[in-house]
Amino acid sequence: MTKYVFITGGVVSSVGKGITAASIGRIVKSRAISVTIQKLDPYLNVDPGTMSPYQHGEVFVTQDGAETDLDLGHYERFIDIELTAESSVTTGQVYSSVIAKERRGDFLGGTIQVVPHVTNEIKKRIRQVGETSGASVVIVEVGGTVGDIEGLPFLEAIRQMRSEEGRDNVLYVHVTLIPYISSTGELKTKPTQHSVNELRRIGIQPDIIVCRSDYAISEPIKEKVSLFCSVDRRAVIPLLTVPTIYEVPLVLEEAGLGDLMTEMLRLPASRPDLDDWRSMVERMKTPKEPVTIGLVGKYVELRDAYISVREALCHAATYLDRQVSIQWVNSEEIEGDEGKVDSVLRSVQGIVVPGGFGYRGIEGMTQAARYAREHKIPYLGLCLGLHIMVVEYARYALGSNEPNSTEFRPDTPYPVISLMPDQCGVQDKGGTMRLGTYLCHLVEGTRAAAAYGESVVRERHRHRFEFNNEFRYTLEKKGLIASGLSEDGRLVEIVELVDHPWMVATQFHPEFRSRPNLPHPLFREFVRAATKTLREGDQHPLPLHQEMKGVHK
Ligand code: GLN
Repeated sequence: MTKYVFITGGVVSSVGKGITAASIGRIVKSRAISVTIQKLDPYLNVDPGTMSPYQHGEVFVTQDGAETDLDLGHYERFIDIELTAESSVTTGQVYSSVIAKERRGDFLGGTIQVVPHVTNEIKKRIRQVGETSGASVVIVEVGGTVGDIEGLPFLEAIRQMRSEEGRDNVLYVHVTLIPYISSTGELKTKPTQHSVNELRRIGIQPDIIVCRSDYAISEPIKEKVSLFCSVDRRAVIPLLTVPTIYEVPLVLEEAGLGDLMTEMLRLPASRPDLDDWRSMVERMKTPKEPVTIGLVGKYVELRDAYISVREALCHAATYLDRQVSIQWVNSEEIEGDEGKVDSVLRSVQGIVVPGGFGYRGIEGMTQAARYAREHKIPYLGLCLGLHIMVVEYARYALGSNEPNSTEFRPDTPYPVISLMPDQCGVQDKGGTMRLGTYLCHLVEGTRAAAAYGESVVRERHRHRFEFNNEFRYTLEKKGLIASGLSEDGRLVEIVELVDHPWMVATQFHPEFRSRPNLPHPLFREFVRAATKTLREGDQHPLPLHQEMKGVHK
């Protein structure tokens, strides 16, 4: 019998419900119980693929090419699992499918309503993920906060699940915030009481309440939550803000959540094996020598826009016994100002240009790529970062400022990056890019092949534009080589510079495959190269980049 753990959020958003769900996944997995996880997102978009990162943060891509919520990234990283499109359900998908069924005549004669038609569709999708994966435990996070109008059909669906699946097979976990009032120096439980009341009004009595807080939660506060919210005292689980998100599974386990869950769901009692996870967290928390990476993008004010990139850098640094310090550089702010480019980038040991869309900020990224090339600073380009590297190199190699991507200048005489042939004529914007996993063949003797130590790899994509093969020969002759190719050899998947310590860019997104205890090979080798780059001041009074040449040899 499949067991379901439903996770809802109360009081405010952004208290770490996604991390809590992912951590619960890790706790279950650590007991050798098979687990999968799903996110229910109440917005009307079919998927977040068409949303701006300012609205939604990063779009996470699954191996089967679904554009999903960034929480799926946390799930994959914490549980070390590869999810599919089934793990991401939105109101948009649910309604599209109910309406398509209505048009087909599946409900002939009936009036289509939220209950039961929409709720049935939601429950079908929840059960489906359990069936396909065969997991014993299915964790389901409901996006948004209890009380949101959009969330109601989802809450109604999960309410019905308990009577249909049986009490022992369904668990409700509510994640709330216990705010601190500085004027009186007190932690307040009232917002939690209100949000639990709201849940109860819908018919859900939480079994476990996870209380997020910035300050220690005393016994009397726990008693109060227990009394007013009718949960066992053991079921009030404090979750204080911790230095690294990867510590959350340990904190929850320590607070007894794992044992409580196994007891409530009548799962076999077993000792969790979190030893490796614990030593990884210890390594992350031990202060280490920093490695400074400049991340040059246009959504840098919103860190969530690059969450998988940030995590992948952190995983790589941990592996190398370093601590990554990311310098967030707004590409628009350095645009056209060489002095600024230099002052901002002279202290970084590596430069990352991540993915993105649209012309805004592109020239600033190109200047950053030029800086990396000229000053021999390790560079990692991710998707758009490959386009930027190719455009910059073509401008240098062809001695012209005209080379560009047709995404930015459709009439450029040197379209070094152009629309993929199968994208021509595509009108719809949603879900139409080249998405998901494709094979990439590595070219022997390249930095990319050395990093992977394999000849064929599988990586996840999300793009419309690609390296234009018309320029392949010219650019390869000048030193920009293709080091990874699609299966048929037609698409350039990785490029790198010959005469540079480490300048590599990928058409795919390696960041989605990095794990805290298993960094992605390209991030690992990029950060390793960065650790060998001297920072400003390290070799005073010699000019920085002159000295560096010797270091890389
Ligand atoms: N805008 C580029 C394209 O569509 C790059 C996409 C990306 O960085 N994910 O090809």
